[in-house]
Amino acid sequence: MIGKNLQRIRKELPDHVTLVAVSKTKPVEDILEAYQAGQRDFGENKVQEMVDKKDHLPQDIRWHMIGHLQTNKVKYIVPFVTLIHGVDSLKLMQTIHKEAVKRDKIQDCLLEIHIAEEPSKFGFDFQELLALLHREAWASLDHIRICGVMGMATFTSDEDQVRREFRYLHQCFDTLKSEVFSEKDYFREISMGMSGDYRIAVGEGSTIVRIGTLIFGERNYL
Ligand SMILES: *Cc1c(COP(=O)(O)O)cnc(C)c1O
Repeated sequence: MIGKNLQRIRKELPDHVTLVAVSKTKPVEDILEAYQAGQRDFGENKVQEMVDKKDHLPQDIRWHMIGHLQTNKVKYIVPFVTLIHGVDSLKLMQTIHKEAVKRDKIQDCLLEIHIAEEPSKFGFDFQELLALLHREAWASLDHIRICGVMGMATFTSDEDQVRREFRYLHQCFDTLKSEVFSEKDYFREISMGMSGDYRIAVGEGSTIVRIGTLIFGERNYL
């Protein structure tokens, strides 16, 4: 079933879009099934869960931290994580940098931008982010590589609203690209789109979609 789901989704995605299979709450067996169907990029939103699973799975899996990350847990994932999607404070950037220096690693990250209507979601306010990036305090953080942006749309059936929010994230990306990262080839990722809205996200220029339910089925939070 999982392999079939993956096949169906992949067929639909343009070649330049990376599919991250979001395996949170799902057992190692399910992840292996996806792996055997050729999937290599997996996303988790909890540090402990990702660390526990990784030891039971093939080493060539590319792990994506897609959830909110607390600074005191950064040290557990920097040794192996491929991409940290939810970077939303200078303090977190500094902590990731510090751990990356220790490991002699350049850590790839995405800046999470608040695009949804709901006030509770994480992410930078875009104007504050711009101001921060112009202050250059972050520029000395040479062991983090900011590869793009990430965002989550409002959970709503109003597709126009979702489209507007994704379009806004793309505009944020363009502004950052021209004002801050114009010489950085690696600044090219827009992580947006989940099971319910990935088609809209791809239409608005997503380069990474994060899909769980459509691959692994509904999650049980017990
Ligand atoms: C859970 C989660 C997803 C995947 O959600 P689905 O609706 O199951 O596809 C994507 N992104 C983030 C940040 C998540 O926490």
